[in-house]
Amino acid sequence: MGNKQSKILLIYTGGTIGMVKEYQSGVLKAFDFKKVVDNIPELGQLGCAIDSVSFKKPIDSSNMNPTHWVSMATLIEKNYAAYDGFVILHGSDTMSYSSSALSYMLENLAKPVIFTGSQLPIGDLRTDAKENLITSIQIAALKEKGQSVIREVGLYFENKLFRANRTTKINAEQFEAFASLNYPILAESGVHLKVYHENLWRPVKNKPLKVHIALDDRVAILKLFPGLNRELLTGVLNIPGLKALVLETYGAGNAPTDAWLLSDLKKAVEKGLYIVNVTQCSGGSVIMGRYETSRELEHMSLINGRDITTEAAITKLMYLLGSQVSGKSFGTIFETSLRGEMT
Ligand code: ASP
Repeated sequence: MGNKQSKILLIYTGGTIGMVKEYQSGVLKAFDFKKVVDNIPELGQLGCAIDSVSFKKPIDSSNMNPTHWVSMATLIEKNYAAYDGFVILHGSDTMSYSSSALSYMLENLAKPVIFTGSQLPIGDLRTDAKENLITSIQIAALKEKGQSVIREVGLYFENKLFRANRTTKINAEQFEAFASLNYPILAESGVHLKVYHENLWRPVKNKPLKVHIALDDRVAILKLFPGLNRELLTGVLNIPGLKALVLETYGAGNAPTDAWLLSDLKKAVEKGLYIVNVTQCSGGSVIMGRYETSRELEHMSLINGRDITTEAAITKLMYLLGSQVSGKSFGTIFETSLRGEMT
């Protein structure tokens, strides 16, 4: 299924995949990319041309921030015409955030951008890195009638290709580290590489790639928990300059009905803070108004996050605020699926 003509650009940002154990402390640290590639002679057998670039200073993805997303998006923009696909090697810890952000930043993407990484370093005997990397490259190289099969930002891990902005890291131990509970997988690697064409994102035809690099980080996430007190809520709602908040609610979008909580949220919305109702559950959707405990949230015009992940919600807020979307249309645009991130 690979294509001899496919040219792939490998972008190494860091993460376990390229880490080595520090001799004395045993701590895992990001290492030189050349060593990563040297450890996989199999790459030469893939039948596609692979070039690679590396972040000057590879990082553990816990250090990832929007500036790095801009670097990745800019690299893709600069090399877009010259390559058929892009594979981004990234730590798994924040991979769902980065790949969700890139999905918004790369508007009208018509080529694959596949994020991958691993739970064990590539030099480890039992590593999951080789399969993840090799199959990601194969997926990025897939073509049909001269066009890329995957035309969106994907995340490949442990035999599955997901729509990146639907994923969440769910396991810090097992090789199966990611899940996408609200959207089916895009492809699966077994004896054969099986693509589920019906699940693929199909962009608007013939529109040139548009890269958005303005992101606004004046956002926050607040997860509800039994016992959350007014002081905490007041502190968050009054963060100077705060523009938008992801409110992680219970179940189908429910919150306590305490008068102080509802009136503080209402006042914040009236003052212009965008608050998105996102469920704490990894699967399922917010249905505002289904229970009494979400009716008031619906009445105060909280934005309905439906089945979006927290990762996709917070990065969507950064993207929309950065794009100067404001006022009345903000909620409507947020509630619209831009890159297949919500149903
Ligand atoms: N801490 C690592 C990182 O996210 C874990 C990994 O690569 O999977 O960079």
